[in-house]
Amino acid sequence: MKIQFLGAHNCETAATKLVSILIDDVLALDAGGLTSSLSIEAQLNLKAVLLTHHHYDHMRDVPALGMNALFYETSVPVYATQTVKDALASHWLNGAIYASFLERPPESPRIKLTIIEPNQKFIIAGYEILPVPVKHSVPAVGYQITSSDGKTLFYTGDTGPGLAEAWPYVSPQLLITEVTAPNRYEEFGRRMLHLTPNLLKEELLAFQKAKGYLPALFLVHMNPRQEKEIEAEVEQLARELGTPMTLAQEGLVVQL
Ligand SMILES: [Zn+2]
Ligand SMILES: [Zn+2]
Repeated sequence: MKIQFLGAHNCETAATKLVSILIDDVLALDAGGLTSSLSIEAQLNLKAVLLTHHHYDHMRDVPALGMNALFYETSVPVYATQTVKDALASHWLNGAIYASFLERPPESPRIKLTIIEPNQKFIIAGYEILPVPVKHSVPAVGYQITSSDGKTLFYTGDTGPGLAEAWPYVSPQLLITEVTAPNRYEEFGRRMLHLTPNLLKEELLAFQKAKGYLPALFLVHMNPRQEKEIEAEVEQLARELGTPMTLAQEGLVVQL
């Protein structure tokens, strides 16, 4: 399984992009930095865009994908919960801010959105995909992706304290989760349901207790301004727990 980090941050600059992860060139996890990272051929090659929740930084490129689909006379397969679809339809692809790509053309909408149900597995292009609810400030799911050769990753999307409630349902070899801010922002993390290294530690200890192992970790959604501070704290946490943890960067490719 090839995992390519297209965007790894929660803020966009010339050097950082919003979270988007590409699996084996065919599955995209979140759509914060998809269209600016992928050629039109690569966009048209996508078998699924899986959205975790309806915050701007995770679904921003859905309208842009729809416009490309219009001019290439095709449609883009997007998977999300009803909550995410409703947010897209009412706030964005509503015929005022942008075209109603969820409905047009009626026979084959440019954004072909399939509603997913939490905890119900489905198969796309030979991958088993399990959406699992995670704690965040709005309804959100993470995705466990299992390839036909038995490789498994779990991408949590944005999450915070209480992530451990997802552990009974997943058994990843590799965990992609978030660390938005350094430890001195713990109160913010608890209130807004994001993770700091210390908050992540609590969730990982629960994982280890339940499963008897810890997966390798890749971390995304860092605030660029505080990244050095986050990195130093994550290095210490990795030593303490004895499992590798890497802050992902735009362009990083990992083989699982
Ligand atoms: Zn969010
Ligand atoms: Zn976010």
